[in-house]
Amino acid sequence: MRFVSAPSAPSASPTTSEPVAPSAAAASPSPSASPSAKAKQTPSVKPSASTKPPVAAPPRTRSPVTAPGPGGSIKGTGSDAVALTFDDGPDPKSTNDLLDLLKEQGVKATFCVVGSRVKTHPEVVRRIAAEGHTLCNHSWQHLQDLSERDNGYLMWDLQSTNDAIRAAVPGARIDYFRAPYGNFTPRLVEFAARFTMKPIYWDVDDECWKSSTYGVGPAMTNHMTTIVQRDTRPGSIILSHENLKPHTVATYRSLLPWLKSHFRLVALP
Ligand SMILES: [Zn+2]
Repeated sequence: MRFVSAPSAPSASPTTSEPVAPSAAAASPSPSASPSAKAKQTPSVKPSASTKPPVAAPPRTRSPVTAPGPGGSIKGTGSDAVALTFDDGPDPKSTNDLLDLLKEQGVKATFCVVGSRVKTHPEVVRRIAAEGHTLCNHSWQHLQDLSERDNGYLMWDLQSTNDAIRAAVPGARIDYFRAPYGNFTPRLVEFAARFTMKPIYWDVDDECWKSSTYGVGPAMTNHMTTIVQRDTRPGSIILSHENLKPHTVATYRSLLPWLKSHFRLVALP
C-alpha cells in the first residue's frame, strides 16, 4: 500500500502507517483505542476449533447510550436504533462481499473509509454511496497519533480524504469522522467540526481485530457474536472492520438476522 504523505508530515512514511494491520492491532492495542471496559472482561467464549454456533443471548435491556466518547465524541445513535459501522476500507474483496450481504438482508450501514484507499478503489466507494450507505472520513492513512499532528497536517489529512471521497462520488455527504483507533481528543473533535463532521466513536467493539487470539474461523465468529449479542443495546454504535477481514463478513452473515430481529438497524443519518 502506497501512501501519499503531506509535505508537513515527513514522519508519516509508508513504512510506519499501514492502516490497522491485524497483528499489530492485536499485539499492542492503544489504551485509548481499546474497547470499553465491559469488553475487556474475560471472553465467555474461549478460542477453540469448535464449530458449535453461539447461543443467541437476549438483547440487553440497559438504558440507551447517552454518555459521550473520548474527547467529546459520539458513542450512540441518539435514538433506539442501532448503527453498524465498518472501518478501514474500501477493500475490493471484503467491502464488496459485505455490500452484497447488506443488500440481501436489506440493511444500511456506515462505512468509515481511509482516504488513500479511496483513491485506489474509488469504484467501491461509489457502490457504497449508490446503495444508500453512509460515508465517514477515517483519515488519509490511519495514523495512530493523528491527534498529535500539527494543524497544517490535520487540515491536509481530513481535506484530502474528503477530496478523494468526492472525487469518487461527486457531491457526497460526509457528515462523520472517526479518528484512527478511536483516538479522539477535544482538539481532533474540534477539527472534525471545522469540516462539519460529527466525531463518531462506538459503544460496542466486536473485536474482529483479535485474530491473533481467535483466528479467522468459527472461534472468531463465536467471539464476535458473543460480544455483540451481550453488549448491544438501544442506541448502540457497533464498531467492526471489513478491510482485509473476510471473517467479519462471515460473522455478520449469521449475526445480521439476529441483530435485525432485536433492533432497528440504521445507517447514521
Ligand atoms: Zn480504523
